[in-house]
Amino acid sequence: MPAEVKSLNEECGVFGVWGDPHAAEVTHLGLHTLQHRGQEGAGIVGKTAAGLRRHYGFGLVSEVFAQPESLTQLRGTAALGHVRYATAGGRILENIQPLLFRFTDEAIALAHNGNLTNAITLRAQLEAEGAIFQSTSDTEVLMHLLRRSPQPTFKAQLKDALNQVHGGFAFELLTETALYAAVDPNGFRPLVVGQRPDGGLIVCSETAALNAVGATYLRDVQPGQLVTITDDGMTVEAYTTRTQLAVCSMEFVYFARPDSEIHGVNVYQARVKMGEKLAKEQPANGDIVVGVPNSSLSAAIGYARASGLPYELGLVKSQYVARTFIQPTQALREKSVRMKLSAVRAVVAGKRVVLVDDSIVRGTTAIQLVQLLKDAGAKEVHLRIASPPLRFPCFYGIDIQTTKELFAANYSIAEMKAKLGVDSLGFLSVQGLEDSVALNTTAPNRGLCVAYFTGVYPTELDDYTSNLQRELSHLSINVKEVSA
Ligand code: SF4
Repeated sequence: MPAEVKSLNEECGVFGVWGDPHAAEVTHLGLHTLQHRGQEGAGIVGKTAAGLRRHYGFGLVSEVFAQPESLTQLRGTAALGHVRYATAGGRILENIQPLLFRFTDEAIALAHNGNLTNAITLRAQLEAEGAIFQSTSDTEVLMHLLRRSPQPTFKAQLKDALNQVHGGFAFELLTETALYAAVDPNGFRPLVVGQRPDGGLIVCSETAALNAVGATYLRDVQPGQLVTITDDGMTVEAYTTRTQLAVCSMEFVYFARPDSEIHGVNVYQARVKMGEKLAKEQPANGDIVVGVPNSSLSAAIGYARASGLPYELGLVKSQYVARTFIQPTQALREKSVRMKLSAVRAVVAGKRVVLVDDSIVRGTTAIQLVQLLKDAGAKEVHLRIASPPLRFPCFYGIDIQTTKELFAANYSIAEMKAKLGVDSLGFLSVQGLEDSVALNTTAPNRGLCVAYFTGVYPTELDDYTSNLQRELSHLSINVKEVSA
């Protein structure tokens, strides 16, 4: 076990296309649709007449590809793109994806969404054997494993490598002859396949990106599956049979777009059901229901529907400020909350407001929102959270690896209520969340990972085992408590 686990993780978006004459342009459009999954860097590798070429950089897709030639130089019939959220420590250009490796016999582009729980151990072993890494990203480990595999074919080497990495991952690899895509044995991160009208095949993080490029949904990549797309078509096979569906529940709560479907469940409708369940589990004496724009509006609609209270637009959001949770520093986060939301005085003044938010992570946003509503004259604020309290770290690709950062891990519900300055506080139960998403499966937790809320992880944590034990030794609050 290495001495110190550093932040290698990310919540990202991937988009690959094969067999489309406008591959680079389609990928560019797809990345725009996945921009909510990462705003710190973007890149595209195009399969051009001159081989694989890459353009990448820090910033939004529109900033990285501001010059027309940045895209035209990537023109060809296949491409792979990535939008990245990096932790502060990992903010170096070498980590922006897709990574592009040039070997004497071939070039390979690699893009990844997730976090490998054994990357540090594997990297230490590989370095001891002489491997030289270009980045600090966990993603690069897969390429070293692939190239060192003794298997006879590229695909067999890839399967070999996939069986050595643990954790949450959705990988895509682009070569001159194929596009490959694979999901971890628990399917933590979503990955879907679609087809453009002209036959081009697409593999990307969310179905919303398929819609944006006029592609028809074909399938979700299932846990433990490897998809291979060549000029001869698509094959889907299992690289492992030891699988157990555990989709990240935060995809449904917060990350994914409401117009996306994950394993057949529409994200908007799941959020509405979370709001409906929340209203039943945590009723409030209020006059109006107000949702926090934008990711909580669906849950607020559900809460209003089930409670019979009117849904009102009590908070408005500037469309031009990046999402708070994925700003890398506390100072940036606080600044962006004040910049992006304001209360509608005519709606909330004199009212008992039931404020519905999708989650409380660090508490930063909620404290300021309550203050905004009170400053605008709200008589009472009853905060209802459409997910259970986030009390445990995530090691599968979300940038929370320590309970120090989590509001609900450090305070009881009564303490949170006092700190937030609300008149009442209630959270959705874990059961309520599982029933709202209602994936069609007999897997534990109805096919969801709920480790963020329960501390029960679907996999071994490898490099992070001692981190978790250290975190849990500090945790003294009642993890079953959900209201005050
Ligand atoms: S621990 Fe939480 S954030 Fe991480 S994969 Fe599981 S549900 Fe998602």
